[in-house]
Amino acid sequence: MSGPGDGEGRGGVGSPETGVPRIVDAEGVVFLGPGAMEIAPYRVDPPGPGEVRVRMAASGVCHSDLHVLDGDWTRPAPAVMGHEGAGWVESLGPNPDANGPHVGDLVVLAWTAPCGRCASCRRDEGWLCLDPAGSGHRLQRGDVRIRRPDGAALGAYSGIGTLGSVQVVAADAAIPVDPRTDPAVAALIGCAITTGVGAVTRTARVRAGESVAVMGLGGVGLAAVLGARLAGARRIVAIDRLAAKLDRAIELGASDTVVAGANPAATAAAVRALIAGGGNGAGDPQAGGASAARSAAEAPGTADGVDHAFETSGTVSGVETAMAVVRPGGTTVLVGMPAQDARVGLDVYAFVESGARLLASNYGSAIPAEIFPEIARHAIAGSLPFERLIEERIGLAGVRTAFDALRRGDGARRVVVFPSP
Ligand SMILES: [Zn+2]
Ligand SMILES: [Zn+2]
Repeated sequence: MSGPGDGEGRGGVGSPETGVPRIVDAEGVVFLGPGAMEIAPYRVDPPGPGEVRVRMAASGVCHSDLHVLDGDWTRPAPAVMGHEGAGWVESLGPNPDANGPHVGDLVVLAWTAPCGRCASCRRDEGWLCLDPAGSGHRLQRGDVRIRRPDGAALGAYSGIGTLGSVQVVAADAAIPVDPRTDPAVAALIGCAITTGVGAVTRTARVRAGESVAVMGLGGVGLAAVLGARLAGARRIVAIDRLAAKLDRAIELGASDTVVAGANPAATAAAVRALIAGGGNGAGDPQAGGASAARSAAEAPGTADGVDHAFETSGTVSGVETAMAVVRPGGTTVLVGMPAQDARVGLDVYAFVESGARLLASNYGSAIPAEIFPEIARHAIAGSLPFERLIEERIGLAGVRTAFDALRRGDGARRVVVFPSP
């Protein structure tokens, strides 16, 4: 079936797939400009060199999509939204790399596919790649593979546009994982889970026995709670302004909870009192749950705050709270992305005196090709309940409702599950 120039099939490596048409029909959430979106049909061209066509299995609805839709972030339109997805490789571009994805692989899509050549990549900091595939929300700049039914070009958010049923993506952005992974969990590995887990295990490098606070309990924050368990944190304080979100954090392994009020200093004082007083929740997460909370006397050095705080809410008050809950010399890691014009004040005198550290975590300071399969292995082994990050499995028609829920801060992740073809 490999017609001239259509790029389908996999010359010499296995048998070329059959029955896959050159151009396929798809449907997705199309961003039309600030405040405007539609669910619309589009057409997908065959993959070019270094590309693969992916039939999407599932896509999360992430707060970053909402920032785009609400005009907090400036992004080009029209484009198929979504940057947190997983799917099945349907076809390959010409002369595929034998080490790349194969037809039939379950792949998690990366919103930054490191180029491997730029200054950041040469430092092994691929998450800071200066020239990732998909920049400008096109595959290669100005080079698109998806079109409106009338032929007009469509962009794909971060080059992967996961809220569409089919996409052509850079082969480097399609990371194979164990096909037994729940596709909805695999989708979340593409953004929320990697961002939350990586912030703990890679950006901050939390060590066993340390104490952690997580500000904001959406998909990323809850993933950070799981990351803290993975790292062996002894105390995990979960903080959110909505009391309803604290229970799930406890189920996922948080040892203590605090409802964030309007005043960051008051919230921080509550966290410090909790750490000093031995806690309010399920106790030592490493002891399997309901053990007695430890007294301050058993935890020297934690009475004046936590070792690490992770800010995932993307709010100014969240940043202020996270910076206020760490002990002297502790580390605050900023993970959540606010609106582009957000600014925070900093008490420079007190900050310098505290000897604290302030870090930023982009994509969990992780290389997708390394961390995606690693997290998938944890998910399959059942060692961490990643499926509990999923609030609800929805269809494309439910995306508007999911955005409304995100605006309210309601619940964990909503995941679009695409129908099987
Ligand atoms: Zn995201
Ligand atoms: Zn690079």
